Amino acid sequence: MIRRYALRRVIAAGNLRWRLERWLRRALPGYCAFCYARLTGDLPWCPDCDGDLPWNVVACRRCAEPMATRGGGDVCGRCLRRPPAFDAAWVPLRYEGELIRLVQRFKFSADPRAGRLLMELLVHAMGTTAPCGERLIAVPGSWTRTRERGFDPVSWLGGSLAARWQLPRLVALRQRDAPSQRGLDRAARRHNVRDAFGLEGPLPESVLLLDDVMTTGATLESLALACRRAGARHIGVVALARTPPDRI
Ligand SMILES: [Zn+2]
Ligand SMILES: [Zn+2]
Repeated sequence: MIRRYALRRVIAAGNLRWRLERWLRRALPGYCAFCYARLTGDLPWCPDCDGDLPWNVVACRRCAEPMATRGGGDVCGRCLRRPPAFDAAWVPLRYEGELIRLVQRFKFSADPRAGRLLMELLVHAMGTTAPCGERLIAVPGSWTRTRERGFDPVSWLGGSLAARWQLPRLVALRQRDAPSQRGLDRAARRHNVRDAFGLEGPLPESVLLLDDVMTTGATLESLALACRRAGARHIGVVALARTPPDRI
């Protein structure tokens, strides 16, 4: 009961800060977060930069991998051959250009302004309510990298997104500290994070998983399998940005 009350207070505080920021932007229009042009609208970036951002508009419904066209349907060939453990993915941006610099500023320099801007981009693209799920579960960061950075970026995003979507969080546990996925190919990434996560069940029927950048989807796949083992039946995933297949 006390925990539920505390959670409601955290959610209310997060919403209040967001409303205050939006009010401040209207009252004191500032400069575009990307090009420093004077702003006229509600968003912290200008229409020109909005047009230049790598929005992931044409993407697989199941894994959010960018697709050249919708000609072959809304699910990619890889998902048709080997469906992932999650049912749907929402990843509004491609991990390229300005997005790479912004994500790196957030993750490696612990820049909270970059984190807030990433959250604004995500909510702007996805709306103010969660697409599915009764609980939000952030991919838990590696112990080593969390210690090196001084914070866990995905957990930070999870707290912020839970407040915006008014979705209670559930915490997943790392069973072991998997080495970095950087530089690994698709199969090696899958092997690297196999059985890396655990959850205390039973989970609610429907959960929504969160990561910052989705590269091959191996980490989210491993977490989704752990959620299924703990009783979830419908699993959606959300991430900020998706690495295009030619960059993996
Ligand atoms: Zn701009
Ligand atoms: Zn797919």
